[in-house]
Amino acid sequence: MSNPLPATLIASLEGLPGFDRAPFEQVHAAAEKITSLRLNPLKVSGKAVQESILSALSADGATQVPWSTTGFYLPRRPSFTLDPYFHAGAYYVQEASSMFLEHAVRATTDLDQPLKVLDLCAAPGGKSTLLQSLLNEQSLLVANEVIKPRASLLADNLSKWGAANVVVSNNDPRDFSRLPGYFDLVVIDAPCSGSGLFRRDPELIPEWSPENVQLCSQRQQRILADVLPALKEDGILIYSTCSFSKEEDEIILDWLADHFELENIPLNIPEEWQIVTTVTDKRNCAGYRFYPNRLKGEGFFISCFRKKEMAHAAKRKETKSAVVNAKEKELLASWIQLPDGYGYLPHQDEMLILSPLLTTEIAFLQQQLYIRKAGVKAGQVGKKELIPDHQLSMSPLVAERVPVVDVELKAALQYLRKEDPGIDTPVRGWALMRYGQMALGWAKILPNRMNNYYPKELRILKDISGL
Ligand code: SAM
Repeated sequence: MSNPLPATLIASLEGLPGFDRAPFEQVHAAAEKITSLRLNPLKVSGKAVQESILSALSADGATQVPWSTTGFYLPRRPSFTLDPYFHAGAYYVQEASSMFLEHAVRATTDLDQPLKVLDLCAAPGGKSTLLQSLLNEQSLLVANEVIKPRASLLADNLSKWGAANVVVSNNDPRDFSRLPGYFDLVVIDAPCSGSGLFRRDPELIPEWSPENVQLCSQRQQRILADVLPALKEDGILIYSTCSFSKEEDEIILDWLADHFELENIPLNIPEEWQIVTTVTDKRNCAGYRFYPNRLKGEGFFISCFRKKEMAHAAKRKETKSAVVNAKEKELLASWIQLPDGYGYLPHQDEMLILSPLLTTEIAFLQQQLYIRKAGVKAGQVGKKELIPDHQLSMSPLVAERVPVVDVELKAALQYLRKEDPGIDTPVRGWALMRYGQMALGWAKILPNRMNNYYPKELRILKDISGL
């Protein structure tokens, strides 16, 4: 291994629950690369589609991640860039230990309720896409990221995921104090010193230092203190890191129990998953440690709390949203299958599609947060036609009557490179380009060519001439 683990890190882990130095060092030296992904239930419904996606990625067979209903390991890493299903948002490539968030949410939260959920440190969107898949349509997810370019990446990944019940915001944690007692569930996947990822990304090792662990620990406390007022009474807080350091894990749990009215929630975990339970020295809080030498995943830590403190919701000013006129509605109806309770929101010269709870919450959220994306963008409504947005193509809301053009692998990749694949089709005008029943984006088919509307910034750059 090019970068050995820092001796100070190893020394600091001695004596921690589940830490076993020799196998821990061996598994890092072996540097095995584990590939896992989580399917998107909005797009992958039914065993047959699931099979065709997984078998195209791996002929040797994918195996289930034990703590995830939609997570799978692949025996080796394929080229995701050359898989049209990846660009269609059929799955998210996610590290397996992180998928345990599903188990924590199911154990602590009533997912049949309409919930308001905040993923505070959300980019690039692994936990947000997972949360969205767990929530019902009546629920709302605010996925927030403080760093601007990372918030754009988060918005792109959530656009690809296709759901209309998500808002992406670009705010500092302290801005959430404007939403007192608002959320039923707050997930904080905190920025950390990252030692849990050293097997996968050994280039991070030289950046590690005990001083940085301390800085991360202080920042984690600030983030938690800033956001806790936004959690409802009886609301759930889920805290996670990808650090092995006690200062960012157990010590944070004790700090939370010391400073806030929070009740720690222990989880039931099957023993065969090899996840190590840790109980904090001071306040007996349970947390869960993931070691790469014990299970098939990277280093991870997670713990859950329930808020016992009273929280008063903010007074809300009534605001009126812009209305959609009958002509616009008629135009939109030819493109969109709007489910019951969903609504349209004109925004600048574009039209958004919002889920039921988002239609009632959007005006309030817009007053409090810097919103980067809300619901699904339908497109630009002109006098005669809608210029459909890529977001609409990625959602399950496209009306059945919209023409589709189904293409094979090579033509799909040419389309994703923003080329004209030269397809022979009787379709004329706007069409949804599809590969294996999965939408890739829009095209306008003319008698002798195709105008490719795939977003330029998303196009594949990789050479495909050898295919
Ligand atoms: N939850 C993400 C996922 O599953 O894809 C990964 C989140 S990563 C561990 C932590 C995130 O916190 C990063 O996107 C980082 O930009 C953000 N961050 C950095 N400093 C922060 C701060 N002071 N407050 C809030 N978030 C911060």
